[in-house]
Amino acid sequence: MLKGKTALVTGSTSGIGLGVAECLAALGANIVLNGFGDAEGPKAQVAAAGKAHGIRVGYHGADMSKPAEIEAMMAYAAKEFGGVDILVNNAGIQHVANVEDFPVEKWDAIIAINLSSAFHTMRLAIPAMRAKNWGRVINIASAHGLVASAQKSAYVAAKHGIVGLTKATALETATTGVTVNAICPGWVLTPLVQKQIDARAAAGGLPVDEAKRQLLGEKQPSLQFTTPRQLGELAVFLCSSAGDNVKGVAWAVDGGWTAQ
Ligand code: NAD
Repeated sequence: MLKGKTALVTGSTSGIGLGVAECLAALGANIVLNGFGDAEGPKAQVAAAGKAHGIRVGYHGADMSKPAEIEAMMAYAAKEFGGVDILVNNAGIQHVANVEDFPVEKWDAIIAINLSSAFHTMRLAIPAMRAKNWGRVINIASAHGLVASAQKSAYVAAKHGIVGLTKATALETATTGVTVNAICPGWVLTPLVQKQIDARAAAGGLPVDEAKRQLLGEKQPSLQFTTPRQLGELAVFLCSSAGDNVKGVAWAVDGGWTAQ
């Protein structure tokens, strides 16, 4: 289904981004990975997922808080892969503190990585998508793009922002073959969330499993984590022809979190 297309997934050396990259690779898309840490393991994992299609897997280590590095990454994708047909804006970080205690550099980093980076990748990718009259932008927002939690002001602001950015650009491209949508996961058990579980366990003197149960119980009625693969399968749907007329949605995959 996606043979001949190239997908760039930001923040895909771990967690949700890696899961989405694997699902797109399994349908035949070439993949450009991005993110910190080891790149060889994720590259091999994604290549294995797309082996039947003989896909190509590239990697660019751009820091998504730095517009010049984002430009270099997009230039790399254009040169090595002929451009980006599917753009998944996924890189993200979290910091938890009351607004009056929120470190200014953490606020700036969260807005830059979780929100502004998507503006930069989109402004650079959309012209070629328009020219081909086909493209998919999938922004990994969050349940926190729809509702708030205390101690997460920067994250909630960035995620509400990316939902707004999604809607505005979906309207700008509405008459073209380009779609722009957001996926809003609830809790997914990745390193980003494991940190919050560990902090909860340490603060309450709880076993990690109990901290996990409490975390889910507070917000996610299904009491189940969403998996990166489930999010990847939704991305696959949005890339299919069934998704041609899905424009500007913020699609919750949150076990009922935002239905409450
Ligand atoms: P993760 O920590 O497992 O992965 C984050 C990825 O982003 C990693 O590959 C990391 O290297 C990369 N990254 C971080 N800073 C970067 C930077 N400056 N430049 C480039 N790459 C950078 O986290 P995850 O849980 O997989 O989160 C992925 C996205 O999903 C984030 O946008 C997050 O807000 C969102 N999300 C996660 C959950 C959840 O429960 N885990 C829920 C809703 C939304």
